[in-house]
Amino acid sequence: MRTAPGQIWRTLRFRLAAWNAAVVILTAIVTFVALRQGVRRALLHELDQVLIDDAREIALAVASSSEEGAAELYEGLLRKSRGHLHRGWYVKLLDEQRNQIWATPEAGPAHAPPLTIKPLSPISFGGYRIVYDTLARPVHGIHSIRVGANLRFVEQDVARIDRGVTMAAGAVLIAAPLCGYWLAARAARTIGAIITTASRLRPSHLDERLPIHGAGDELDQLAHTVNGLLDRIAAYLNTKRDFLANAAHELRTPLAAIRSSVEVALNGDRSYEEYEDLLVDVIDECGALETLVNQLLLLAETEADLPAAKFELVELQALVTKAVDMFSGVAEAGGVSLRLKAIDRACVYGNPQHLRQVVNNLIDNSVKYTPSGGQISVELAADAARGRVDLKVADTGPGIPQVEQRHIFERFYRAESARSRGAGPRGTGLGLSICQSVVHTHGGAIECRSEQGRGACFIVTLPLATPSDAADLGKVVAVNQ
Ligand code: ADP
Repeated sequence: MRTAPGQIWRTLRFRLAAWNAAVVILTAIVTFVALRQGVRRALLHELDQVLIDDAREIALAVASSSEEGAAELYEGLLRKSRGHLHRGWYVKLLDEQRNQIWATPEAGPAHAPPLTIKPLSPISFGGYRIVYDTLARPVHGIHSIRVGANLRFVEQDVARIDRGVTMAAGAVLIAAPLCGYWLAARAARTIGAIITTASRLRPSHLDERLPIHGAGDELDQLAHTVNGLLDRIAAYLNTKRDFLANAAHELRTPLAAIRSSVEVALNGDRSYEEYEDLLVDVIDECGALETLVNQLLLLAETEADLPAAKFELVELQALVTKAVDMFSGVAEAGGVSLRLKAIDRACVYGNPQHLRQVVNNLIDNSVKYTPSGGQISVELAADAARGRVDLKVADTGPGIPQVEQRHIFERFYRAESARSRGAGPRGTGLGLSICQSVVHTHGGAIECRSEQGRGACFIVTLPLATPSDAADLGKVVAVNQ
């Protein structure tokens, strides 16, 4: 995606660069200021130590000097003062009122410092750093001494640091936004690649995947996630495509049969019985078409999550009893015994039409696939403690081979034996996928236990309705007590 001219400030790379530059510059300024202050303090501390040592040393020298040694003392102090002239070092020997008795040529501050200064506590005064020390007892009228040094040399060092800091700050000021922009542009380049690939994706062309750079960063994770989503969408669309193709194929078979029956009817004169047979064939095929269309609609409805809107409290035992009654005639006609083995009272929260369809499909399959002489048993067992109900439909039919059990819940899947049965029971391959879809929408599970040649047993597990389900419906009923 291209950035509109004049909108550069809205781009991620600009904002990242701006934030980065702001943080770097702020950090640099704080660091530089702290560094400058730290160095200044260290220099002052160093100077203070020197002045305190000097004051102590001179105080000791004065205290221990004799009348004759005074000239030698002064000479020594003058030598020291000349040696440290560039630092503006001076010493003053003071009387009781802190008036000057003797001093080196460097004058020190223009005015006399306050009298309150404590001994050996350095202070800054009049551009000088000064330290007092008092003698334990006056010698040659000297009560205290004052040593000082011009602060200029400390300030010169600090000014030198300031110059370095200013230059470094200038460099950071220029480099931070440029480097920040370069780094942000690098990061944004990967996002740009993702956007370009994503913009090329079409529902009909979903085989492109976002590039993964292998850095393992958030952008790689994003690409992984989007690629996973694309995989799922592609698989979903393929399933839909297959479903549509299968549905068209299944619709074509009865339509072709109807067409051929009508063509045969129109092709020359037929007896009344022949016309009647042909019309019965047409009605049969219409019935098959109707069943298929109804099943397709039901599947679409269950997938669209519409059933939840029509949920109500359903007495499952009533549905099961009715279904067994309904199929017992057909089962009897086929020489199969259909019986209700056990039935508990079980109330579930769901769509009654869809649940009826599940019960009917399972019993219908058993009746369809169980040969004459076989048995079908239906059982509804509620387990209030675990909040679930199991519906079991078991038969003594041919069973389902292990390899086929994995596919029987797929749409349009019909086991090999069912397809090759010829004139045998006719199915669409949608019954069990509808059962599974309905059961899942109701928060339940369906499973098949079977061994080839030893019958099949389908077990549907559904959650029992809870009092809150009843409350949702605004009905005050005793649920599953
Ligand atoms: P159909 O319309 O073919 O019955 P279903 O989805 O209901 O479609 O079932 C899928 C396949 O599962 C069937 O074709 C059949 O082979 C197998 N099947 C289902 N129920 C039974 C059963 N009770 N006994 C044996 N095979 C069964």
